[in-house]
Amino acid sequence: MKVKKILIVDDSPTMLRILQNTLAKAGFPDSITACHGKDGLLKLAENRDVDLILSDWNMPEMTGIEFLKNVKADGDTKNIPFIMVTSRNVKEDIMEAVQSGARDYIVKPFTVESIQEKINNI
Ligand SMILES: [Mg+2]
Repeated sequence: MKVKKILIVDDSPTMLRILQNTLAKAGFPDSITACHGKDGLLKLAENRDVDLILSDWNMPEMTGIEFLKNVKADGDTKNIPFIMVTSRNVKEDIMEAVQSGARDYIVKPFTVESIQEKINNI
């Protein structure tokens, strides 16, 4: 599918900046950000044109896995592809994310090429 607008969710402002820059270099300059899962749900309600979600796992207020479950439980957002971007690379975590509806999983640190490849595979 053709990805235009991407929602990036991470509690680290530095990581948000790195991801926005990486996405722009990978050919996806149109991104918006949120600082945790609850904020992500608000941004999705305000932006009905989001094509893809990239979310961190460990965040205050609402973690990435809870955010994922909320996105998949809502008929308005359940079809938006969701990629977890996290330093958690334990097999059980990856399984839980995939079983909860995540399309893919990116382990930090990542490269422009790896992000590009994952998004192009959606
Ligand atoms: Mg975090």
